[in-house]
Amino acid sequence: MAEAAKEAVKTAPENTKLVENATCTFCGCVCDDMNLTVDLDNHRITKAQNACVLGRAWFTEHKLEKRPFALIDGKEATTAEGVEVAAQILANAKFPITYGLSDTTCEAQRQAVAIADMIGGCLDTTTSVCHGPSGIAFEGVGESTASLGEIKNRADLVVFWGGNPAEAHPRLFTRYALMPKGMFVPNGKKDRTAVLIDVRRTASTPVADIFIQIKPGKDFEVLWALRALVKGRKIGADIEEETGVKLEVLEDLVQRMKSCRFGAFLFGMGLTMTRGRHFNSGALLALASDLNAFTHFVAKPVRGHGNVTGADNVVSWSTGFPFGMSFARGYPRFNPGEFTTVDTLSRGDADAALIIASDPASNFPKAAIEHLKRIPTILLDPRESVTGQIAKVAFTTATYGINTTGTVYRMDDVPITLRPAFESPYPSDEEVLIAIKNRVRELLAEQHRLGSPKVAQKVA
Ligand code: SF4
Repeated sequence: MAEAAKEAVKTAPENTKLVENATCTFCGCVCDDMNLTVDLDNHRITKAQNACVLGRAWFTEHKLEKRPFALIDGKEATTAEGVEVAAQILANAKFPITYGLSDTTCEAQRQAVAIADMIGGCLDTTTSVCHGPSGIAFEGVGESTASLGEIKNRADLVVFWGGNPAEAHPRLFTRYALMPKGMFVPNGKKDRTAVLIDVRRTASTPVADIFIQIKPGKDFEVLWALRALVKGRKIGADIEEETGVKLEVLEDLVQRMKSCRFGAFLFGMGLTMTRGRHFNSGALLALASDLNAFTHFVAKPVRGHGNVTGADNVVSWSTGFPFGMSFARGYPRFNPGEFTTVDTLSRGDADAALIIASDPASNFPKAAIEHLKRIPTILLDPRESVTGQIAKVAFTTATYGINTTGTVYRMDDVPITLRPAFESPYPSDEEVLIAIKNRVRELLAEQHRLGSPKVAQKVA
């Protein structure tokens, strides 16, 4: 037990529990060194040692609010009643969609995949509205990759592209990629060069040794120019007019990248969700591969939601594709733009929606939200949300990481087991999804027996 935790045990008031090395699931850093002080009488976390400002709020503002186990058409119901209505909706839908999944455990994600498979629906995660373009680029270009532990221990050049970790992932700097002392960078930040590339100055800019400001929408041009320079091609000085970056600045960066011992790109949505999208991600991944002719260079996307990386892993290992796919023909097909949720809703295709731990009604385009209001929606979420207000069936579930155990993946694809702080009266997402899956299977078997035109693809 760490010294600080031992001291906390000695001084803790009665009926206080300490949970060591708990995991924060607020962002994709998934820091697993939280020491939580839990007030068991009031079901509150009073202290979250080692958490950043975001993690501290995640833990200490968590309340066990008294809410109905389920709402059906806004009226209180039991979980079992909710399961029955949800299963009826899904088993009878012609174009059901499943969406969300980035803020729940891998165990729950597996159940959602099984349901989507069984009902022949579309399956999509929040990746489609964040690093989806990177998912597409990985398939086309591949990935020179590393764990955050390797980056911490080895990287002497770290290039942050299109992100603002100081505000969105505070401990990416302090725990993993910049400040910590590592095996081959014993002086921490002093042994590293930090480069930040973005279209504007942010709270992260002061941390960088070199800040390169590029014109909005010109990431691809900068990346392609860097690839050319890495390969020894000539670039004209007019690159500055095109991208806002002087040729000498690009040449200096190329020199640094080729001569470092271990370089890492950590890239965010400023790269993936701007003009160029998967071409941008692909260009950055290709640049990392090119640099391996000279040194060791890796590239990792910086992920937002606590288990969005788990969603990518679970959906990929189950179906072969990371998001935006359909089981309508009885086997998985991948087609972002057709099977992604914003598109199935905006076109008005979907006739039922299963939403897990997400709030699309608060952030999707208007046409998608309008259609979501028209179709029966089933929602699993520990919190009240805008989607909850329009849902036909809304389940209250326990919060992963705080109330339930399970597996999550850190943004570098490292799986971590959760250590919950205290129990919740509400079921986990996994438990509700298993119940829905079992009932859907019964209903599909019944339809199959009666020779319904909607023959289940899988009833076994
Ligand atoms: S960096 Fe992210 S995972 Fe780590 S403590 Fe902060 S919010 Fe939690």
